[in-house]
Amino acid sequence: IAILAIDTSCDDTAVAILKNDMVQSNIVSSQTDIHKNWGGVVPNLAKRAHQENINPCIELALKRAKMNMDDLDAIAVTYGPGLAPSLEVGVDAAKNLAIEHDKPLIGVNHMEGHVLSPLLKNSKGNFYAQPPEIKYPMIAMSISGGHTEIVLIKEKGQYEIVGQTLDDAVGEAFDKVARMLELGYPGGPIIEEIASSGDGTSIPLPRPMSQNKGFDFSYSGLKTACLYKLRDLKKEKPLAEFLPDFCASFQEAAIDALLIKLKKACKKIRPKLVLIAGGVSANNRLRYKFRQAMTKLHIPIIFPHKKFCMDNAAMIGLVAYQKYQRKEFIQDKQKLDRDPSLVIGQQNIYEV
Ligand code: ATP
Ligand code: FE
Repeated sequence: IAILAIDTSCDDTAVAILKNDMVQSNIVSSQTDIHKNWGGVVPNLAKRAHQENINPCIELALKRAKMNMDDLDAIAVTYGPGLAPSLEVGVDAAKNLAIEHDKPLIGVNHMEGHVLSPLLKNSKGNFYAQPPEIKYPMIAMSISGGHTEIVLIKEKGQYEIVGQTLDDAVGEAFDKVARMLELGYPGGPIIEEIASSGDGTSIPLPRPMSQNKGFDFSYSGLKTACLYKLRDLKKEKPLAEFLPDFCASFQEAAIDALLIKLKKACKKIRPKLVLIAGGVSANNRLRYKFRQAMTKLHIPIIFPHKKFCMDNAAMIGLVAYQKYQRKEFIQDKQKLDRDPSLVIGQQNIYEV
């Protein structure tokens, strides 16, 4: 089964082609240069860039996969969650392709894509991240710029949110703390780089929600704690003197807050496999600490290949392949609409 998948949920125009669960081509046109001066994504600038990039990306994806439209069995697109103006561009492009070429249309939840991204295979059929065994239940943790969620995958295609952030997402906290330190955007990779020469135990910061019942997260308290700590430290010495320690200490706190809840969920659910996904899962310190903790619990854990941590359409194609097998197609293609606040595990109104 050959599927062309599109994702324009935020600030990257992404198109990929998969044969079953194997990635044949994966195009991502990043808009980081457009948005970095603003410290975040500007929706209308994103929309215009998507409109300019979408057709060239589709053509390039076909070319790299050595395919043309006739070779495709279906068109898939992210219809939520994300920024409405951005989502619209991808949804319109997919609808037009599916109608013009008379292909089935599959609507995909962006978060389901992130969750499955560690299970992608390359064009030769090998997993990028070799899982020991594909067995359910699994626990997935989606940690990105907009989400911080623990998701239970009971069976293939059956999702339930176990815990989520009550305020900021963890990636957002990285971005906001980076902004506080005037380091630029996106903050995650910059903080990780600077943290590598710092001492993560040097500046005491809270592990929010660690004492709370349940599996929810909160990152606004950590952000505020950073703000006060920074103000105090700046009175004592120049920023350059404590910057690496500050980044390392924040990174440690942000990772621990995730890990405390993940361990708790694992002890309760005893999953057969843990999947970690989303932009923040690219963080090497996080990968190290998570692997160590899961080894102790004897639970296998896998992470996406680095190129599938951030937004991409290959992960959308993988979800679409599973949906294709269940024949979950959009009945009335013209009616597919973006849903900016779509939630994972929610009843899908387009597939009855
Ligand atoms: P969502 O998928 O929730 O809609 P998004 O698509 O904007 O949000 P991603 O593109 O998956 O999010 O991830 C971007 C986030 O990941 C940013 O907040 C960025 O700072 C963070 N990030 C990227 N690399 C790293 C890293 N090495 N360490 C920590 N955070 C990182
Ligand atoms: Fe994303």
